[in-house]
Amino acid sequence: LLRVRGLQKRFGNNLVLESVDLTVHRGQVLALIGPSGSGKTTILRCLNGLELPDGGTIEVLATVDADRAGAGTAEGRGANSAETVSIDFAAKTTPKQLAALRDRSAMVFQHYNLFPHKTVLQNVIEGPVVVQRRPVAEVTTEALALLDRVGLTAKRDSYPFELSGGQQQRVGIVRALALRPQLLLFDEPTSALDPELVGDVLRLIKELADEGWTMVIVTHELEFAREVAHEIAFVDGGNIVERGDPQQLLRHPRHERTRQFLHRLL
Ligand code: ATP
Repeated sequence: LLRVRGLQKRFGNNLVLESVDLTVHRGQVLALIGPSGSGKTTILRCLNGLELPDGGTIEVLATVDADRAGAGTAEGRGANSAETVSIDFAAKTTPKQLAALRDRSAMVFQHYNLFPHKTVLQNVIEGPVVVQRRPVAEVTTEALALLDRVGLTAKRDSYPFELSGGQQQRVGIVRALALRPQLLLFDEPTSALDPELVGDVLRLIKELADEGWTMVIVTHELEFAREVAHEIAFVDGGNIVERGDPQQLLRHPRHERTRQFLHRLL
């Protein structure tokens, strides 16, 4: 589904991503782990078009079942995605290419990033209605079904500040699903939560993984990564140092740098 080659990103003189290669198959869950500042968040932001890479290519393949509908369901994935997006960032990119890339994925942020002055329901329908220009009635029906699924129907007219962190993050996830993305990107989705609220959010992500959503998850929760991911990639110094089966990578890392990182955590 996703193929990234030689992705490069600098902020001023700081080469944050040196050359990142990534492949994610449809239905696959990839967890990115690695030290603070290694570039994990930047990788996600490049995939979502929130940062413009300086070099490399990103390809998101077309979905076969593009005309089947229903947000938040396996069938609804990639409803907007009948064509392959292929961008070479060494060349000049067009706004149309970037818009197409943004449309393929949806991001769940560490700090939820909900609009504070909009209600829960308004937060969920904003993207599909304003950016994707889908009909309000249809989007609202789907949004309400998604809110029901995560037990937040009663909160539809509440504002983010009236919700717990765990509830806000579930709204963040529903908002991502409502965009009918092909790819879900999670940026440390539980690291801002009180410990007792982490479980609910992780369970929801696990459910989505079991339903076959394609996901890239940046996480510090190694236990969770082991449980939910099909593969784990260790990121250090702007590169993917190694990648493999969770059990193998966590127990028998091949690289010294991975060993040192895991040793500090475990
Ligand atoms: P963490 O686990 O702490 O979130 P990370 O692996 O996700 O770290 P990134 O957030 O991708 O790392 O940051 C990688 C490097 O890029 C850091 O050195 C950071 O300071 C730098 N960086 C990130 N965003 C910007 C920006 N907008 N402007 C300048 N430098 C940035």
